[in-house]
Amino acid sequence: MKSFIRKDTVSKTMDRIILKPRREESILRYHPWVFSGAIAQIVGHPAEGDLVSVASADGKFLAYGHYQIGSIAVRILSFEEDPTKPDFWTLMLSRALKLREAMGLAGSDETNCYRLVHGEGDGLPGLIVDYYDGVCVLQAHSVGMFRAKNAIAEALREVYGGSLKAVYDKSSGTAPFKAGLELIDGYLWKAPGFDADESVVLEGGNKFLVNWNEGQKTGFFLDQRENRARVGKLARGRNVLNLFCYTGGFSIYALAGGAKHVDSVDSSARAMAMVDRNVELNGFTSEQHTSYCADAIDFVKNVPDGAYDLMIVDPPAFAKHRGALKNALRAYQRLNAAAIAKVAPGGFVFTFSCSQVVDKEAFALAVFSAAAETGRSVRILDRLNQPGDHSVNIYHPEGEYLKGLLLYVE
Ligand code: SAH
Repeated sequence: MKSFIRKDTVSKTMDRIILKPRREESILRYHPWVFSGAIAQIVGHPAEGDLVSVASADGKFLAYGHYQIGSIAVRILSFEEDPTKPDFWTLMLSRALKLREAMGLAGSDETNCYRLVHGEGDGLPGLIVDYYDGVCVLQAHSVGMFRAKNAIAEALREVYGGSLKAVYDKSSGTAPFKAGLELIDGYLWKAPGFDADESVVLEGGNKFLVNWNEGQKTGFFLDQRENRARVGKLARGRNVLNLFCYTGGFSIYALAGGAKHVDSVDSSARAMAMVDRNVELNGFTSEQHTSYCADAIDFVKNVPDGAYDLMIVDPPAFAKHRGALKNALRAYQRLNAAAIAKVAPGGFVFTFSCSQVVDKEAFALAVFSAAAETGRSVRILDRLNQPGDHSVNIYHPEGEYLKGLLLYVE
């Protein structure tokens, strides 16, 4: 059965969420979330992850979605009433792939990894799917998506056909089940003979080892592809410092772009071991690159003035929720002040924030305050973003999370 809504489940007994008067407005504008505060009545006893229908106060059908206990009560999957449309997952995943093909990502000779599904951006709230040269790594951020994972794996097989090697579920850290339930990551499907937890992928013509089993997130930070290419273009002849480097994405592009020397810093020993392997894989030597397993904030504070003329500052999300916003902004300011103070005259600083709750303006203000602290002449050459495969649904601006600035410091 491929339809996500089976004919037999869409019956009079399907649980229904009825909204308070006038609370349907955001849904009519295609915003894909129903907040618990907008609900007047729940007809039935939906379990977490069940498919429910949503209706306005006067009983008009609005949407179908996954029910969840929490402030986001429903994540909408369809605004269409026809519940029997076949092949829902196949249809949605084909649309996602079509966009990646149109962007020149799927089918490219120099890049064989990309994000196939970016949650709400692809009309599939709660679902991430990253593609690594034939291996799809699925991450469910909702119980509904977690429960649908086998249907999604089956649809991925249909969409990619014979080129699919495996579908790996990496939801243990993200699916919001109640504490106590142990989730175990693993393969949902493997092609006969496939037996690997890591693979060498190509991004912008560079080789990267990706380990979806042991790595952070789905194994690689695919969202920095275009910003890495930008670093590559400015790196010629420069001494580069890559802070919070993970497996060395920016470092490899800088070396390929002709950097004089690159230092990479991350507090994860496992990530640093991958950096060394990536340096070697791409044919660079230890004379061109040095790895430091260290706290990046301490490291940058101890850098001699002017030692680097290109720095990358890409920390983990300092604010995971609104309550942490104020402290996070202070932390961004401190970190950026240290980088701006130390970079050589005529140097570039690529600085990023991937905290969703820190918006572009707030981040720019933190970096402005950092620059002001140093008293140096700083220009903004560009504003940086997440790439198109991390697509943002125009009706769901919350999908935008990665922001950065390219600074020129004199
Ligand atoms: N720039 C990377 C992605 C960075 S993700 C890329 O292009 O792939 C953030 C990284 O910061 C993670 O690898 C994490 O291990 C590291 N990290 C977190 N806290 C840190 C700290 N205090 N010092 C150094 N690294 C840290």
